[in-house]
Amino acid sequence: MTCIVSANSKHIENATLILKRSGLVAMPTETVYGLAANATDGKAVAKIFEVKGRPQFNPLIVHVNHIEQIKEFAELRDIDSILAQRFWPGPLTMILKRKDNNNLSDLVSAGLSTVAVRIPSHKTARELIKKCGFPLAAPSANKSGSLSPTSPVHVVQSLGDKVDMILADGACSIGLESTVIDCSGDKVCILRPGAITASEISEILGQEVIYDMGNKQGEVRSPGQLLKHYAPSIPVRLNAIDIEKGEALLAFGSIKFMGIRNGGRAQDLPDDMFRNLSKSGDLYEAAANLFAMLRDLDKSEHKAIAVMNIPDIGVGVAINDRLRRAANG
Ligand code: AMP
Ligand code: MG
Repeated sequence: MTCIVSANSKHIENATLILKRSGLVAMPTETVYGLAANATDGKAVAKIFEVKGRPQFNPLIVHVNHIEQIKEFAELRDIDSILAQRFWPGPLTMILKRKDNNNLSDLVSAGLSTVAVRIPSHKTARELIKKCGFPLAAPSANKSGSLSPTSPVHVVQSLGDKVDMILADGACSIGLESTVIDCSGDKVCILRPGAITASEISEILGQEVIYDMGNKQGEVRSPGQLLKHYAPSIPVRLNAIDIEKGEALLAFGSIKFMGIRNGGRAQDLPDDMFRNLSKSGDLYEAAANLFAMLRDLDKSEHKAIAVMNIPDIGVGVAINDRLRRAANG
């Protein structure tokens, strides 16, 4: 039986005990639900890989409560501190050089000389990390390659009783995984788009920051870029301007002019074949709804999920990144 409890102080205290004894706790964050383990405990970190079915070469993000905690295991340069001041706590993950002789499990960074870190803003995640006193390694709380969980129910569906406790605290406000930036080299670059955009980062640094999404063969800079990700079990068709018979529709904005091929209007689709990411065309609302709505439409009786065009600006870049991976899956 999965232990799913509301994220109050008493349950956070219990979660701390579980983590101290090498257990796994699913915790809410502002991005997606994370599967947390003590990042200094090799046995606990190994469990994350086992439960998720995550390839051992794909490193994890380490979540901390304050910057001083990072200095124990990674090098923070001036430029990193500037980014940290501006964007933390929040949905930004920085890849930093790992210090020699640190106390993190080697598994966390999959043998690399760098480590990914983030200070989340969600109050439950913060309280949990603070009470633990050690950093928490936490990838998304789902089976590797499948849709990320943005509610406690999604965690139950994906990992069931493989987790010792699920701290339930409603839906995630952002609903997309963090922006990942590589700060370990000469030039900062974005490895995974997220709610914090390239232009926001460029503005703070006073230099253009580019996306390196690892599409070119042999130039992958982040192991996660190699993986099939965020995929529903049925095909996903992008930039749909109409729908085929049997397809479900994931809309964005108005569907007034959306038709069904060979006759019919999208507006008349039954409820279970239709979701709208944001009727008003708000990209943040769309990001928060993305994974939950893909799940709702991911039913074997549907031929595919047709997705309307999402503008490739701001957080739309991150939404389109996840959708492209879903379509390639
Ligand atoms: P996840 O925890 O699955 O949401 O994703 C974390 C992402 O960060 C994955 O794409 C990882 O491959 C990437 N990542 C984590 N640590 C590193 C690192 N040290 N160097 C490069 N990429 C990393
Ligand atoms: Mg993940």
